[in-house]
Amino acid sequence: MKFANLDKMSQSDFELFDSFFLKWIPAYQEIWVFGMGDYGKAIRNFLKECGFVISGFVVSAPEKNYAEDSDPVMSISEFKAHHHSAKGKRGLIMGVSSLYYAEILPKLYFAYDDMYFFDETYKELISSHCGARKGMKISWHLTSHCNLSCYSCQIAAPIAPKRFYDLAQYKKELRRVYDLLGERLIYIGLTAAEPLLHPEFLEFVVCTRQISSAARIHVITNGLLLGNQSDTFWSVLSANQVKLSWTKYPVKYPFDVKDVFAKAEQFGALLEYVGDSSYMADKESWEMRAATKGGENPWDYIFCFMHNNCIAVNNRRLYTCHKKFSWEYCAAKFNIDNPVCNDDGLDIFQAETGDELLEFVSQRPRMCAYCKVRDFRCIGSWLPSKRERGEWFCD
Ligand code: SF4
Ligand code: SF4
Repeated sequence: MKFANLDKMSQSDFELFDSFFLKWIPAYQEIWVFGMGDYGKAIRNFLKECGFVISGFVVSAPEKNYAEDSDPVMSISEFKAHHHSAKGKRGLIMGVSSLYYAEILPKLYFAYDDMYFFDETYKELISSHCGARKGMKISWHLTSHCNLSCYSCQIAAPIAPKRFYDLAQYKKELRRVYDLLGERLIYIGLTAAEPLLHPEFLEFVVCTRQISSAARIHVITNGLLLGNQSDTFWSVLSANQVKLSWTKYPVKYPFDVKDVFAKAEQFGALLEYVGDSSYMADKESWEMRAATKGGENPWDYIFCFMHNNCIAVNNRRLYTCHKKFSWEYCAAKFNIDNPVCNDDGLDIFQAETGDELLEFVSQRPRMCAYCKVRDFRCIGSWLPSKRERGEWFCD
């Protein structure tokens, strides 16, 4: 079995986190985190998302002013006395890079038996999901429907109604996001289900560059319409510095791929042809299913590559992933309850600062409780969708 974009992850990674949350943490009355840098705070945030509140931080430089943070802070000597007063009841998680272990660990000798160490891969993973973010990548889905029909499509386009995103609404939303984030909006995706189906696609491109001169603009297409595009299409992409990624599906394209690349080159447009695991391979089929009853372990989402990697705005709200779309279409098609609620998205017109947006996507949306993350997997060669419930649900 192969796991989604997590080459090194396996069931044993989930088991390790199960053991941490179900055995190690409950063995202590208090949990402290060593270090208040990026890793320390990300671990604090991760535990909070999973329903565990830490008692505070332990630091080696107590003279620093930590007043801006609401969590209690102790120096190593203070923690030593605290730890000693109830030996075996205060657990300490190392929240710093292992590069500092040689310097710090000798000072924490008194707590060795009660310490927990995440390896660097996990600290990076926790930091990328729950840590402070400096910039944000946001996509808009220009159509709900698609001209291809893929097995278990992550946004359930094969069963979605035909719908085009409204250009005027997009402009308002993008302006709002740009007003809040400014240059921290580093990437704007015009994607899903198939952006080239939108009759106003080029207007989307032009206004995106007018609103943000610096963000990377990225269009992801299945390429089926690339053979029909006019010179204007290619020159607009080039003039607005758009990167066009063509996902390489193993279907028959009604034109010569080489002609498309020649056109892109002629106009200086940036075109890449991408497969799944490599530039050479064709797209494979992935299964990322949910359970209608929910109740998955809250820590499983840390292994979901979509969490804050597929941030999208839709109808004024910001979402940390695009699962919201598949729930909407699946609920209508298969007559099931849609668990996605308002709190799963953030109203960008009610948010007052860009920091609110950055913080929101580092949290775990409630809808994560329904995803069977430990069963997300590649099932091999690309398959067409049969529009069956089992492509999106495992129960
Ligand atoms: S995965 Fe397939 S069906 Fe879904 S949006 Fe992409 S090309 Fe369309
Ligand atoms: S809802 Fe959570 S677990 Fe499911 S795809 Fe989105 S981020 Fe991943």
